[in-house]
Amino acid sequence: MLSRRQFTSRAVVATALAGLKGFSGLYAAEPKRKRASRYIDVHTHIGTTWNGNKELTPKGLLDWMDEHDIEKSVLLPLTSPESSSFLLLTEPALKAAKEHPERFIPFCSIDPRTSVRGGVKGFISIIQHWVDQGARGFGEHKVGLNFDDPLMMQIYAACSEVGIPLLFHLDALRGKDTPGLPRLEHAIKTFPKLNFIGHGPGWWASISGDCKNLGAYPKGPVTPGGAIDRLMERYPNIYGDLSAGSGANSISRDMEFGRGFLVRRQDRVMFGTDYLQPGQREGDVQHGPSDRNRTTRRTVRTGNIRLSRWLKPLGPPARTRRPSARPRSRPKNVRQHAGGHACRSAAARPRRRPAVVKTAPTRRETRPAGR
Ligand SMILES: [Zn+2]
Repeated sequence: MLSRRQFTSRAVVATALAGLKGFSGLYAAEPKRKRASRYIDVHTHIGTTWNGNKELTPKGLLDWMDEHDIEKSVLLPLTSPESSSFLLLTEPALKAAKEHPERFIPFCSIDPRTSVRGGVKGFISIIQHWVDQGARGFGEHKVGLNFDDPLMMQIYAACSEVGIPLLFHLDALRGKDTPGLPRLEHAIKTFPKLNFIGHGPGWWASISGDCKNLGAYPKGPVTPGGAIDRLMERYPNIYGDLSAGSGANSISRDMEFGRGFLVRRQDRVMFGTDYLQPGQREGDVQHGPSDRNRTTRRTVRTGNIRLSRWLKPLGPPARTRRPSARPRSRPKNVRQHAGGHACRSAAARPRRRPAVVKTAPTRRETRPAGR
């Protein structure tokens, strides 16, 4: 796992840089703005992720972002024992973003097996509390359970209710599924208001119709009819995070298909790196020279525009309802949500409300049991 991760880490930055260099070139004639670009990196981790890694501090990440014209980075916690050697909690991400609100976009995460009072309502109150403190999304959701395990479905129900996107990792060990991704489809279909962002070997191997192993980085030509295209065709709430070796491999294994995919799905894919350690090496260039130009640039830009729309500061909840304190007329069993429920999802619409610093809590918080 570690060695794959290390491989991943190197490949990631290659993808990032391939895109970045090309993009910078496009705007070379424009006056250089200080610390500004259109890039939002949807996938980074601060802290120490793997044993043997050096710690990536917020300052270290900022320096790296400045070097590579990344304006903002999404900070992803990792809270499941299967996700990393050390847990990366939500609070450091919130703290870093509070100190650098123009540069960091914090996500939040809780393992679905955590002892929580009140089931979905308990998760809603916890996640809402983080959102009130600045969290703009959920993830990296990287849990050693089946993708549509009832516990996982509780998390999707909670995120759908709170109205934030969810970035997931899918492979043979975490967010488990089978070729064709039926479990993922079950979740996407059950929670139509929740925007899912796919990442990881299993997700990206599913670009090909002949995908047999969700834990691999398959090489060679892509067979049409892959689960990714099928799901994106059928559901508007599934997106892709191009970060890591898995994202790079999915495009570079078959450049012709990859280029077509990026053009076809340019409004569904997002730029990301999975940068998590100082000095993470650029590694082999994953994209050929031709893909450093128009296709990659357009994809990155379009995905970033969509992402920035989602991730505008939420501000204090303008709605008067209190999701954690008021009983709602929704089924207790989240599986009964099949076909969708009436909950409004803020993730599905642009946020126009300006950020306002919240000075006092507006709702009662429910304390999770035993934490
Ligand atoms: Zn990651």
